[in-house]
Amino acid sequence: VADVFSKEKRSEIMSRIRATNSRPEILVRKFLFSQGLRFRKNVSHFPGKPDIVLSKYKTVVFVNGCFWHAHSCKTWTHRKIFWQKKIASNIERDKKNIKAIRKLGWKVIVVWKCDIMSKSKSDKRLRKLVHQIILTRKT
Ligand SMILES: [Zn+2]
Repeated sequence: VADVFSKEKRSEIMSRIRATNSRPEILVRKFLFSQGLRFRKNVSHFPGKPDIVLSKYKTVVFVNGCFWHAHSCKTWTHRKIFWQKKIASNIERDKKNIKAIRKLGWKVIVVWKCDIMSKSKSDKRLRKLVHQIILTRKT
């Protein structure tokens, strides 16, 4: 099907779409929704206010920024010295939250921003996420 827009117009539109939908949690939610999964957002009665709560699967998903949550990828390492204390306390809090939610009998899945925002990894990560939600008993 021929595009109704010129090449220039199309790329302008696409870049605007990318810009407005660039937050990784939005991408994750959109994908899950497209797969027929239904969820609630930022449910505050869970420790750590998970980004996505799938009651049917007793699963919560955190979409974590690599820097503040100290992912082992390169994203956060170059500034870590300045923010070490803050990040260290985030790590502790994340651990505590995850443990507390698991204690409630829920599954906890952490999705990293770098995987979602990476063109090469994003699709694979999202598909794996659906598997983790639907098929895996504990994560
Ligand atoms: Zn990362």
